[in-house]
Amino acid sequence: MDPNCIFCKIVEGKIPSKKIFEDDDVLAFHDINPLAPVHFMIIPKKHIASLAEAGPEDAPVLGKILSIAGRLAREQGSPEGFRTIVNTGKIGRQDVYHLHVHIIGGPNPLPRMIAKE
Ligand code: AMP
Ligand code: ZN
Repeated sequence: MDPNCIFCKIVEGKIPSKKIFEDDDVLAFHDINPLAPVHFMIIPKKHIASLAEAGPEDAPVLGKILSIAGRLAREQGSPEGFRTIVNTGKIGRQDVYHLHVHIIGGPNPLPRMIAKE
């Protein structure tokens, strides 16, 4: 745990969140600023700053995150697919440095993947 990390505080229950699912390894909760009708995050409970810092020892929890995404997305109202986003580092415009997988969707198709600047 990183005492200055907002998502570690959510894992510890020191900051409230709208939880969707949790087990010993992962937590899923709604994004506070949703970008689509369905927008939640799945995170490892362990503090991993970003995907750039993940190592082979993190493979099981990362696999678990991806393997539950479909079920959680269906349960949350995105039955026909969704988008997963992992913003990483400065180039990826990551804001919160605790690895998180965004699950974004809803009943209708999303805009195309990325806007050219
Ligand atoms: P990024 O690091 O760029 O992938 O984005 C961080 C995401 O975390 C943003 O979509 C925020 O809306 C979201 N976020 C920040 N603080 C909270 C919080 N306390 N609870 C839920 N989501 C949050
Ligand atoms: Zn953390």
